[in-house]
Amino acid sequence: MTGKHYVEDFRIPPGSRVRVSDFDPEFKGKHSKKRALVKTARLCEKMSKLQQMLFAEQKRSLLVCLQALDAGGKDGVVKHVIGAMNPDGCRVSNFKEPTQEELAHDFLWRIEAQMPKRGEIAIFNRSHYEDVLVVRVHDLVPKAVWSQRYAQINDFERRHAANGTLILKFFLHISKDEQLKRFEQRLDDPAKRWKISESDYTEREYWDDYERAYDDALAKCNSELAPWFVIPANHKWFRDLAVSEVIVTTLESMNLQVPKLSVDIEEIRRKYHSAVDEEKHTKNGRKRRARPVRG
Ligand code: AMP
Ligand code: MG
Repeated sequence: MTGKHYVEDFRIPPGSRVRVSDFDPEFKGKHSKKRALVKTARLCEKMSKLQQMLFAEQKRSLLVCLQALDAGGKDGVVKHVIGAMNPDGCRVSNFKEPTQEELAHDFLWRIEAQMPKRGEIAIFNRSHYEDVLVVRVHDLVPKAVWSQRYAQINDFERRHAANGTLILKFFLHISKDEQLKRFEQRLDDPAKRWKISESDYTEREYWDDYERAYDDALAKCNSELAPWFVIPANHKWFRDLAVSEVIVTTLESMNLQVPKLSVDIEEIRRKYHSAVDEEKHTKNGRKRRARPVRG
């Protein structure tokens, strides 16, 4: 770990096997919380400027997929990191249990509809990966169906990459202890109570099954243009720092180009100056008219 370039530290090299349980969710590098918050704020400023360039370029787009076990911090990343961007040009989609309409279609149907347009950044709070995670853990469809989805996801992501969408996938990794602490906060803090769901505790019993499902998803669907990152997420401030650094570094590596002007800037400048002159004349005219007439 360099502790400097989280893009490299937390990225799963394509083609490698993964055991998420081998990663330390407590990791926080050399940063103090105070310094990390300052650094994250700076990164968020940069992110906002780069987002503007992506929007101006109107050629490519970015998709950020957030995955985690319950209380893993997806909402926190949306609020603290994504919240720094201009909402015009940035869209968050939540994927919950599919509706009857969604279930009547292929699993990627609802995902396709939320993919980012050129110039846009889309954030998925849960994603198509639920269809090889919760669906697999609870046998919601037969194995013969979910096991084909890794290849279908790869085809889908490849097609969007070829169309100019860069895809970043984050697994926010917390420990079982930390999850319980966060559930306790949800119980104790009235402002957080709305997040409590009965399924939180039942899903917790499937922790190991989820880890195995994540191991497979991360290993089988991990390409250069749609890489996975395992983010240590027990410390919320470190999680935000790592995610924002990965997003900023990725946007920087896209070498975004603001398009050349398609208007004649000298002509526009002439129009501007004549508008200024006209405004001065009208103002002077108004002043003269406003002077009281002497009798
Ligand atoms: P939350 O993100 O806490 O609001 O919960 C959303 C719930 O929807 C989670 O329990 C997910 O596992 C569930 N969910 C999301 N996508 C799917 C899917 N494709 N199939 C079944 N359940 C899903
Ligand atoms: Mg939940």
